[in-house]
Amino acid sequence: MSATTDHELARAHVLPHFTKGAAWRQETPIMVSGQGCYVQDDKGNDYLDGLAGLFCSNIGHGRQDLAAAAGKQAEKLAFFPNWGFATPPTIEAAALIAELAPGDDLSEVFFVSTGSEAVESAVKFARNYYVARGEESRYKVIARDWAYHGTTLGALSVTGIPKFRKQFLPMLWDGVRHVPNTLDGAGPEGSAVADWPCVTVLEQTIIEEGPESVAMVIAEPVQNGRGAVVPPEGYWQELRRICDKYGILLCADEVISGFGRMGYWFASERFDIQPDMITFAKGVTSAYQPLGGVVIKRSLVEETWDSELAMFNHGSTFGGHPVACAVAVANITALRDEDVLDNVNNNETYFQDHLTKLVERFDILKEWRGCGYFYAVEFVESREHGRELSDEDRTALQGGVLGSFVRESRLLVRPDDRGATMLVLSPPLVADRAVLDDLMQRMFQILERTEAWLREDR
Ligand code: PLP
Repeated sequence: MSATTDHELARAHVLPHFTKGAAWRQETPIMVSGQGCYVQDDKGNDYLDGLAGLFCSNIGHGRQDLAAAAGKQAEKLAFFPNWGFATPPTIEAAALIAELAPGDDLSEVFFVSTGSEAVESAVKFARNYYVARGEESRYKVIARDWAYHGTTLGALSVTGIPKFRKQFLPMLWDGVRHVPNTLDGAGPEGSAVADWPCVTVLEQTIIEEGPESVAMVIAEPVQNGRGAVVPPEGYWQELRRICDKYGILLCADEVISGFGRMGYWFASERFDIQPDMITFAKGVTSAYQPLGGVVIKRSLVEETWDSELAMFNHGSTFGGHPVACAVAVANITALRDEDVLDNVNNNETYFQDHLTKLVERFDILKEWRGCGYFYAVEFVESREHGRELSDEDRTALQGGVLGSFVRESRLLVRPDDRGATMLVLSPPLVADRAVLDDLMQRMFQILERTEAWLREDR
């Protein structure tokens, strides 16, 4: 009997996330190791990890110190719940995160294990807070079109991406409204942001729904869905003004942007955002352990505790897991001691100059968007002639053509079809200029092949 290969076992037993069965039956990539910005598969191929796993391997792969921090804590006390107890790593991680969060009042950390749970916890905290205050009518949430906030049913209700929601619509709660993001809801050039649809429709929606029914507005500082959408100056200040006017909580979803991706511990600091809550996950441990959470204003927590309700009525077994928190402490310490955020800030213009050169060279690119170490390039048929991709080309590019060019160049960046055909780049934050050069060279190959494919007579 022939030995069963890992690939056969993978096909037989591993149900991959967001992956078509046909693709999995055909190919089961198996990744086995990683160092810095590169990862290796079981066939010995090297890949440049241009997506930091999934926007999360901020400090890079193969760090012995982070592995050791996990091992040391597991030996000492692998687990104790956060229900009425704390452990030293949970306390240390919470204190560190509170110190890094913008402002003085954002100082209470509620830990969970994933970004989806972080978003659900923020939604539930907002509801819990208003019930504690006696404002029982407030439960609705306003999010933005094309925003990804996770996949569990509560978080999926908040997510604004039709293809993820479609078959689950009957199961999603009806309390969420979606409003334009700052790309699709932009106003004419030179006009005041306060007059842009992304702001006016938000306020109009609150009025139509009844301000007394709305609990929270949630948005990412730089929106991933629709391709690294950077907010225009003044936008977040408008969100703050509107939330204050109608007594609504404002949550910045920093699951991607937290812990350095935009060159700051939290992108809220970069864009002068003053949220009531910040959700985080991914980069908090550089993905060496699953950990997420919500940073909440102390005053909101105090008000909840002092109410008849007396607590935040929510929790999970693994929230604040000591091993994950020990890794968070080691990761944050390393990011700080090794000046990793400076690396992002020092190379931001270099990264952007490369992207500008790519756009200039390739007429099939409409533009690049993003900041820090987080970018998207958007495809068109021809920028010069103002022609968008045909439906046929868009479907084929997303249906595997772009994916195969990406894989064959051994650069792990993400083909994305949320609102446009794009490639998303988000390397580990330790990538130096040599790695960025390598990344751009591989991008060049992908774009050359895509251009040839689009121009060929099919
Ligand atoms: N929020 C944002 C902004 C995200 O990008 C993600 C995941 O990519 C989530 C929430 C959900 O996180 P998770 O996949 O850990 O549940």
